[in-house]
Amino acid sequence: MADTMTREQRHRCMSHIKGKNTKPERIVRSWLWHQGYRYRLHVKRLPGCPDIVLPKYSTAIFVNGCFWHAHEGCDKYRRPKTNIDFWTAKLQNNKARDERNYQLLHKMGWYVLVVWECQLMNDSRGTLIALSRRLSEIFLETNKAKIYNTTIDDSIPMAAEPMLEYK
Ligand SMILES: [Zn+2]
Repeated sequence: MADTMTREQRHRCMSHIKGKNTKPERIVRSWLWHQGYRYRLHVKRLPGCPDIVLPKYSTAIFVNGCFWHAHEGCDKYRRPKTNIDFWTAKLQNNKARDERNYQLLHKMGWYVLVVWECQLMNDSRGTLIALSRRLSEIFLETNKAKIYNTTIDDSIPMAAEPMLEYK
């Protein structure tokens, strides 16, 4: 198969890969693995070289460090006090590049999930559970499960059940 990546894409991929196997990434991988998900790592042929790719779920997961990916409104994302112009440009550039890659992946039919470093630091369990939940939803969506939206007629009385104790 021809190598269809442009030089620029390859460069982006390589520069992204420098940050691979970070602790936040390993936390997410380990969780997914133990939950029974199977994935590929750092898939170079996809835009942005996603950290974790779950083909069965058509999902690409990025585990983003808050600083390098310019997580807006995040405590961990503080621009350095020196060379402000340089850093502002660089980090905003990273952010714009991320957005472009997410859009490209969407167009290719991938779901894109971003897990932020700070989410894992603040509430890793909650973050990971939310991730699994989202993957289950995606699985249902991609497998075209029919969700019947029935409107409940207000005139029908709601069922009420007494509290039961299991004795
Ligand atoms: Zn953050």
